[in-house]
Amino acid sequence: MNKVLLITGGGRGIGAAVARFAAAQGWDVAVNAVRDMASAQAVADDVRAMGRRALAVQADVSDEAAVRAVFNRIDTELGPLTGLVNNAGVVDRAQRVDEMSLARWQRMYAINVQGTFLCTREALRRMSTRHGGQGGSIVNLSSAAARIGSPGQYVDYASAKAAIDTFTLGLAREVATEGVRVNGVRPGIIDTEIHASGGEPDRAQRLAPQVPMQRPGTADEVAQAVVWLLSDAASYTTGSMVDVAGGR
Ligand code: NAP
Repeated sequence: MNKVLLITGGGRGIGAAVARFAAAQGWDVAVNAVRDMASAQAVADDVRAMGRRALAVQADVSDEAAVRAVFNRIDTELGPLTGLVNNAGVVDRAQRVDEMSLARWQRMYAINVQGTFLCTREALRRMSTRHGGQGGSIVNLSSAAARIGSPGQYVDYASAKAAIDTFTLGLAREVATEGVRVNGVRPGIIDTEIHASGGEPDRAQRLAPQVPMQRPGTADEVAQAVVWLLSDAASYTTGSMVDVAGGR
């Protein structure tokens, strides 16, 4: 059976690292992004260079119609999906809750939580034996913020990631007899461009002293955990959250 994987937000950072490691493990990969399709294409080219099939697919994961279109395209061009990594995610500028706008809150939940739901629902309809599928594996990107709460920085983001933790646990148990495993990874402070998008490019270095290992992690270090959870090597692991956070 071909292993076919969709990675949301796969154009850079952790998602791009997952794409490359997954290709090395024999996965064909659909690489999603929303704005920067040149980067998504470059990651797809890297996957092809490793002898696997690849697609770059544009969609805002919070847009139901766009998500459906991506899954339909994967059905046609790569075949039955067997893996999903819900990786697309955003932060925002440091702000107290009493200063936050409703628009900020809604965007945070639309991309980080609703996006994970929409992609997961489409994946289940293809993977679950209840729907005639062959089974599969789903990995959700949470964050150490779900445990820490991120006061004074982004409680909206932290609480959205905590929703991902509970979604992962409940869904894993719901589909445990349907051939689908569902797990999550909680990265700590990882050196990617997400910090610049939150207005603080040097955040990973600034916070390094708060990490027991005294350094930020790399996208590759997170991707190794994601690809293990996707793989058959994790065949008895479901409903688990793996912390990749340097002890934080
Ligand atoms: P990143 O470097 O900022 O990359 C984010 C990716 O998500 C980009 O490819 C971006 O696409 C895509 N994306 C953003 N909004 C999207 C949307 N609405 N629809 C589809 N794709 C969208 O992020 P990262 O640091 O690799 O983080 C990946 C995941 O790990 C996120 O869920 C994040 O919350 C989580 N995480 C990261 C850290 C960290 O320290 N880096 C820590 C804990 C958890 P475009 O390029 O097209 O905008």
